[in-house]
Amino acid sequence: MKIPNILLIYTGGTIGMIKDPETGVLRSFDFDNLLDKIPELKLLACSIEAISFDEPIDSSNMNPNYWIQIAEIIEQNYSTFDGFVILHGSDTMSYTASALSFMLENLGKPVIFTGSQLPIGDLRTDAKENLITSIQIASLQEKEQPIIKEVCLYFEYKLYRGNRTTKINAEHFEAFASLNYPDLAESGVHLKVNKEYLLIPKTGKKLKVHNTLNNNIAIIKLFPGISENIMRSIFSTPNLEGVILETYGAGNTTNRAWFIDMLKEYIDKGIHIINVTQCSGGSVIMGQYETSTQLKDIGVISGGDMTTEAAIAKLMYLLSKNLSTLKFKEHFENSLRGEIS
Ligand code: ASP
Repeated sequence: MKIPNILLIYTGGTIGMIKDPETGVLRSFDFDNLLDKIPELKLLACSIEAISFDEPIDSSNMNPNYWIQIAEIIEQNYSTFDGFVILHGSDTMSYTASALSFMLENLGKPVIFTGSQLPIGDLRTDAKENLITSIQIASLQEKEQPIIKEVCLYFEYKLYRGNRTTKINAEHFEAFASLNYPDLAESGVHLKVNKEYLLIPKTGKKLKVHNTLNNNIAIIKLFPGISENIMRSIFSTPNLEGVILETYGAGNTTNRAWFIDMLKEYIDKGIHIINVTQCSGGSVIMGQYETSTQLKDIGVISGGDMTTEAAIAKLMYLLSKNLSTLKFKEHFENSLRGEIS
């Protein structure tokens, strides 16, 4: 039987960082050293090849050009590898995992994002478990076919759908959560895959990589007291094409006339406005309260139970498709990659 062939893609992040002996500041270091630090990888029942960004980055420097770079590495190596593990800083991992889920249409192999809270050389590191289990998950097969066929994120004993995750803690090893979708797998004494929650791609379709994204977007997090001036200055930004509105609770906003009128004015000018909730869990339901009924009437798009990270990525992805207003809304409000219930 052929053993799975896994490609490790190192983009940067704490997992591969070292402390500068003089300043104590964490910075990325050479990837070759990373593999030397984990001799256990040789014990896994798969073959592993690795590739690294020329200059590994702290994921706070992540941007859509790097997302395209990752997507293209996967595309170029898609036929030769059975699974992909991407080492990435945890800070923006949920954004990248969300973006890649949209960029890789008809994905039929596992793409697992992972990283760590402590560098791999640290005595108490969480990096080894995260990396080793991610590779095992990427190697899971049944009748020589991969079990996982979607973009996931593995961290601290749990496998999540990538575009459902949010970084929730800057200190705990359990740094991520998927509040609106069940875990895809749990690692304990056994590796338990919750098959009923896995994405089932359309069979027979070839991988299609979308490598254009449109970042003429903004995000506005509402707060009591947000001023008309600030809102106006954001909405009048030249070339703005889409805005994520982070609203209260189940998608509520102030229903003062200036606010609703302004949203309507810019929707009429062709700007797509998406409603996502500021809450970590739960869903936008426009029309449930009086304070969201008008939003629905003026054409605000519902982000449902999507995370802000997924909504940002989906907005950049869909804006690059030049869809009609109606089609745009339809695509946004329905699941493309399991990102919305
Ligand atoms: N600042 C780091 C990064 O996101 C944190 C981490 O790797 O967890 O690259």
